[in-house]
Amino acid sequence: MTTRAQRRFPELEQPCAWCHAIPGEQCTRARNEPKREPHPGRRDAWVAAHTDCPACHAPAGTGCIAPTGFPYPGVHPERAQAAADTYRQALEADSRDVPERRR
Ligand SMILES: [Zn+2]
Ligand SMILES: [Zn+2]
Repeated sequence: MTTRAQRRFPELEQPCAWCHAIPGEQCTRARNEPKREPHPGRRDAWVAAHTDCPACHAPAGTGCIAPTGFPYPGVHPERAQAAADTYRQALEADSRDVPERRR
């Protein structure tokens, strides 16, 4: 099952390291109010989980590496862009497969 929030924010499949939201649940603010936009770190985790990095060549499932050899904070912008492009294409392909609804 995919909710609209999950289609809009595919990173919801990852747990959030920031607010400890479990996979599939939206991020929360302090005092447990739901937060509409997931935390940026959650997006980074999703990007790293699915996409090879064109900048530092970290394979999917591993974090980015800075030129110094230390872990890069977050993900390279090129990687975030590649993940967004791939996901958008997948969504478009998906919606083409949906048969027309009869009225
Ligand atoms: Zn969060
Ligand atoms: Zn990278």
